Amino acid sequence: MVALIKRVDLEIPDNRITEALTKVGLDAVNVTRLNRKEGNIPISTIKITFKDANNRNTFIHIGLQVDSMHVNAEAASQNKKSVQCYICHQYNHVAKYCKTKQQICAKCCDNHRIEQCTAANDAIKCNNCKGKYLATANDCPNVLEQEKRMLNLINQYSSTSSATTTTPLLHDSNEFPSLPNMYQRQQDLLHNDILDELINLLTSKMEKIIEETNKRLFKSLQQKILKK
Ligand SMILES: [Zn+2]
Ligand SMILES: [Zn+2]
Ligand SMILES: [Zn+2]
Repeated sequence: MVALIKRVDLEIPDNRITEALTKVGLDAVNVTRLNRKEGNIPISTIKITFKDANNRNTFIHIGLQVDSMHVNAEAASQNKKSVQCYICHQYNHVAKYCKTKQQICAKCCDNHRIEQCTAANDAIKCNNCKGKYLATANDCPNVLEQEKRMLNLINQYSSTSSATTTTPLLHDSNEFPSLPNMYQRQQDLLHNDILDELINLLTSKMEKIIEETNKRLFKSLQQKILKK
């Protein structure tokens, strides 16, 4: 049962997180800061493995107080599901990065939206596996396969030891053709993180300024009262 916490200051060691978890009675089996794939550079995301779903869900619900910082958690399993493009119904890219931009019907594979589809129900065909599924169906064997790959990717992204065992998957470009789009997405997420951090910084600066202005006002008010 895994959860991720993001934007955790690089100065904070893993065992500080473990301590904070124990303090609120949460049972974590493992706390690991994730590394960027190249060069094993630590990033601001920390992966926490909990003893069971109960501990994990409580954690996601309440977050965690580490020193003066409150961190919000998210369930890592939410990321397990791979993204599917709603234009071509292939995996690991969203419509924005779709190379074909050719609308494929999820029901019959023709070039129209599924709402405009007139194909009979027994003509259903998945454009990924050619099976009798909608291209968006969860029981398409391709979906299950993609989920397995996502899990590998998450593990691969996690710790140094597992990185060495699963790296070949990434190097096989035929096995994972749309990977550049994945990186694009991760970069976008990274940009969001930076923006969030900027906003946090500005907010805390503003708070200080307001606090100081209040103090000054209070002082001059006091002086005026004393003069009278
Ligand atoms: Zn697409
Ligand atoms: Zn159709
Ligand atoms: Zn399929």
